[in-house]
Amino acid sequence: MGAASIRLFNTMTMQKEPLEPAEPGKVRVYVCGPTVYSYVHIGNARTFTSFDVVVRYLRYRGFEVTYVRNYTDVDDKIIQAARETGEAPVALAARYVEAFREDARALHLKEPDVSPKVSEHIPEIVRIIEKLVENGVAYESKGDVYFSVRKYPEYAKLSKRNLDDLCAGERVQPGEQKREPLDFALWKAAKPGEPSWDSPWGKGRPGWHIECSAMSAKYLGESFDIHGGGLDLIFPHHENEIAQSEAASGKQFARYWMHCGFLDMEGAKMSKSLGNVVRLRDALEKVDPEALRFFFLSTHYRHPLNFADKSLADAEQRMEYFYETLRKVDARVGGKDFGKGPLLEDPHRFLAEFESQMDEDFNTAGALGALSGLFALMNELTDKPPVKDKALVGRTLQALKEDVRKVSAVLGLFEDEPEQWLLRRRERAVRERGIDVAEVDRLLQARVDARKAKDFAAADQLREELKGKGVEIMDTPSGTVWKVASPG
Ligand code: AMP
Ligand code: ZN
Repeated sequence: MGAASIRLFNTMTMQKEPLEPAEPGKVRVYVCGPTVYSYVHIGNARTFTSFDVVVRYLRYRGFEVTYVRNYTDVDDKIIQAARETGEAPVALAARYVEAFREDARALHLKEPDVSPKVSEHIPEIVRIIEKLVENGVAYESKGDVYFSVRKYPEYAKLSKRNLDDLCAGERVQPGEQKREPLDFALWKAAKPGEPSWDSPWGKGRPGWHIECSAMSAKYLGESFDIHGGGLDLIFPHHENEIAQSEAASGKQFARYWMHCGFLDMEGAKMSKSLGNVVRLRDALEKVDPEALRFFFLSTHYRHPLNFADKSLADAEQRMEYFYETLRKVDARVGGKDFGKGPLLEDPHRFLAEFESQMDEDFNTAGALGALSGLFALMNELTDKPPVKDKALVGRTLQALKEDVRKVSAVLGLFEDEPEQWLLRRRERAVRERGIDVAEVDRLLQARVDARKAKDFAAADQLREELKGKGVEIMDTPSGTVWKVASPG
């Protein structure tokens, strides 16, 4: 299977298309990053996780990927937030960049190749605005510079909106210096107390959209392959990026546009302005990062994903099943050599299915379905192998485990040692349910003693007593293990 078999849905054409990067074998990706005025929420995290997996999969398929994700660290919301805390806007933004880095690491997001900040790219931004003015599509007005939307005939080709309809809904606000309501700011004249930089139009700061045009061109070239972000960015942000970039360079800006659906809470988009947010760092206090990733990936990235109270608990329970399976398989075949020879039941068919699902517009939901089949077979082969040939079963289990390892690098799941993961999960559950571990240990020891004394009635009673405390025990070849029973 060649790398060219990936198909992706392009918002520009509203169709799935084969991925054909401008330069064969190389994919250049730009994703609009966070506006750093606060902590990110799990809605933002869903979008960033989707693109994390897109990039990981492209690499898995052999593409050389350059991945750029910016930080918007100059913005009205940042200035507003800094006013409230009494900090300098730059300092506040720097603090939230650090917080984002920590959160991203905790969620196992791969660091992009470049993470440029607006505040460090003012000269590039000024240059592209100058070019737009030279090209006659932008104009200066009392220290502001605006993009003249009517001068770019293809405006709104991504969102497929009608210019006259758009115009009807817009008005020039008092204090704005634009000629037409649809025109948008490329540069804003300095206001007292706001961060500002020198420019040919006097002191000021960039408007929001121009940063992505300037920084993508710097790191990926004026024309690149994939541009991504959440659905809410299609209009006006991406529309404006296209207008600026194409009017400046005369070239096609991005070849493919990918947009991630919203994470919703009770039917409404999770957003800071609605106030219905769960911060990523708060979620990760309660739930394992891989479980959160699993929750995101269990729905196709373009579909809406509804967040409910039990979503994360359910995801973590599913991850527990995966890790318990891996622990069991490790105990059976880890570190053993079963020699070369045939395998049972064509075990690599699951990996092939995983790839064909991922090739089809990064369908992680389908890919996880393929994985369920793989884990079911691992369980069957460890619990009740259909044949007596231990080497045949062992080899097959090892082959399945190897495929899990490959998938793991793409999804950012199962990257932990099973034993460690399960222990952490237990510790979290113990804390949440207020279980007294010393008491559990005492009862477990009493059960061991009872079994030694062949007092099975007492042993069974102790098992029941533990169950009453929310503790489930399992006798394994290497001794008794316990976990916190799932509620309900
Ligand atoms: P922001 O910091 O608001 O610019 O958002 C960062 C990224 O998160 C952008 O790509 C947004 O489109 C995306 N985003 C914001 N809210 C949600 C949500 N509820 N679900 C999915 N993505 C979101
Ligand atoms: Zn952008």
